Amino acid sequence: MAFELTPLPYADTALAPVISAETLSFHHGKHHQAYIDKTNAAVEGTDLAGKTLEEVIAAARGSNQGLFNNAAQSWNHAFYWNSLSADGGSASDELKAMLKDSFGSHEELNTQLADRGAGHFASGWVWLAEKDGKISIEETHDGDTLADSDFNPLLTIDVWEHAYYLDHQNKRPAYLDGVIKEKLNWSFASENLARGSTWAYPA
Ligand code: MN
Repeated sequence: MAFELTPLPYADTALAPVISAETLSFHHGKHHQAYIDKTNAAVEGTDLAGKTLEEVIAAARGSNQGLFNNAAQSWNHAFYWNSLSADGGSASDELKAMLKDSFGSHEELNTQLADRGAGHFASGWVWLAEKDGKISIEETHDGDTLADSDFNPLLTIDVWEHAYYLDHQNKRPAYLDGVIKEKLNWSFASENLARGSTWAYPA
């Protein structure tokens, strides 16, 4: 079974004006679709056909950079769409308590997320992730992912230029400010924390 593009979990206007329908049409409909298509083309007819996307990512890491990039980007984007929502959702009491432990306050978490996102050189991803009962901010470069890591990813933010250029041009901090303050899906983060294992790409 080939991997399919995961549908957006909201209307394409739901994130505007922080992320416009036009950005989503390119980012989801073109960029994400291309990563999926290239992953499918690369695994077809190989012994990776029929594996989960997480298994493909782990198998390709360090041995097949082209496949790894496309498979990891397929996963990262699906996780990113779920990491956003129109109204931000709400954090569970468990997540709130752990965030307070790790960052002191939600405002401090927001400041650190914005700083890490703005400071990430060139393309990549900024993550909120849990490991050994602690929540931290992590960064991965280019297409790299936490999907096959020791971390349980809770949320991610795409800081590639294609995520914000149509809406904010070169002003990555403006995109980050809107996403972090208004659009992060704290309900999704809470579900990921409660599950205690890494979100799985839909089969
Ligand atoms: Mn992207």
